[in-house]
Amino acid sequence: MVRRKLSLFIVEKPENFRKKGDVWIEWKGKGSFGAMKHPIYLDNAATTALSPEALQAMMPYLTESFGNPSSIYSIGRSTRVAIEMARKTVARALGVKPMSIFFTSCGTESNNTAILSAVRDLGCTSIITSPIEHHAVLHTAEHYSRQYSLPLEMVALDEDGVIDYADLEQKLKQQQESGLKPLVSLMYANNEIGSLLDIQRVGQLCRMYGAIFHSDCVQAVAHYPINLSESFVHFISASGHKFHGPKGVGILYVNPSLEIAPFIHGGSQERNMRAGTENVYGIIGFAKALELAMEGYAADSRYISGLRGLMRDLLVRHVPGVRFNGPAEGLYTVLSVCFPRSSRSESLLTEMDQAGICVSGGSACTSGEAGGSHVIRALANRDGCTTVRFSFSKYNTAEEIEYTVNFLRSVLSPEKAGVEA
Ligand code: PLP
Repeated sequence: MVRRKLSLFIVEKPENFRKKGDVWIEWKGKGSFGAMKHPIYLDNAATTALSPEALQAMMPYLTESFGNPSSIYSIGRSTRVAIEMARKTVARALGVKPMSIFFTSCGTESNNTAILSAVRDLGCTSIITSPIEHHAVLHTAEHYSRQYSLPLEMVALDEDGVIDYADLEQKLKQQQESGLKPLVSLMYANNEIGSLLDIQRVGQLCRMYGAIFHSDCVQAVAHYPINLSESFVHFISASGHKFHGPKGVGILYVNPSLEIAPFIHGGSQERNMRAGTENVYGIIGFAKALELAMEGYAADSRYISGLRGLMRDLLVRHVPGVRFNGPAEGLYTVLSVCFPRSSRSESLLTEMDQAGICVSGGSACTSGEAGGSHVIRALANRDGCTTVRFSFSKYNTAEEIEYTVNFLRSVLSPEKAGVEA
């Protein structure tokens, strides 16, 4: 498989640069690692680069095939056909019928729609979720539990952020005994620490206790083979920009056994459920990116797991006191690192940005959150840590990982870092 390396830049002012291996780095005179001319992008859980293949599939719909899918003449009809083909591709990848797939604008919209539908249309009288869900679930659950006066319960977690299935079962049992019908909303793969959910097991519990089950699968769709026909799940959400598709397009899977009211009114699009002219090129790009991801899954997941393992090993070897958040065998695209707090670690994200290394402290949507990430706060024993989330894609290389760890070594070496007691 051909790996695309970040292209090397022709340096205009060589006197300001030094060569490190094959890579030119800007020399700022304050250490051996200055800003790289091209960023090293290790924030693929925030978003991913659009793949050239997805772009190519989208191009006709950004140019000559511009017809409105609701128009009756041929250039309209052909875009309608393209949307329905894309729906079939997505449905095939998830092992479900095309009629159960609704295109939306993003994962956040899909999560909002699933939760609202469950409480408004499906008679859910309580919500069970976890403290480490994305805010697109947590804030929505909080909002509707207030609006509909529903109890909202948080399932317990272990120290790696994996849900406690016995606690979930106990909550479901208690709620059934109290005559409540819960909505369970639990994510398949955590975007900050990579903990994974046994979706089959939760599905079985929900079936046993008469609950509606929604899973935010934004970090899992296209990263794992998911066959929904084998799972007891009512709703799942996914988002195109997390797997080299375009931004601004998501899907909501709605189990065909459910009858829910329209999400958006004002037109007959998406079988009268979500009005509004379709994001045709987005939908085409979503389907193409998902198709490619599933075709390349075996090789890509092995390759990306290798990068994650390399980063983990190098950090353990070179950064004293480093720890990791989340399970060792978690989501293979994410490595959440807990660096011992020091005078330098506070400014680590800024220094990495200045050095051209893109990473985040947590979820991109909450990067301005006061008091740090709600996910890290929900884990036990994370005081005294500076958390950095590295997240990988097939476009990353081992050289980028080595460069990044070398940079971290130079910043966090005890003599520079001034480790706090
Ligand atoms: N859920 C999870 C787990 C996510 O990681 C994200 C994005 O970071 C979202 C939901 C929101 O998706 P979108 O950006 O498509 O609204």
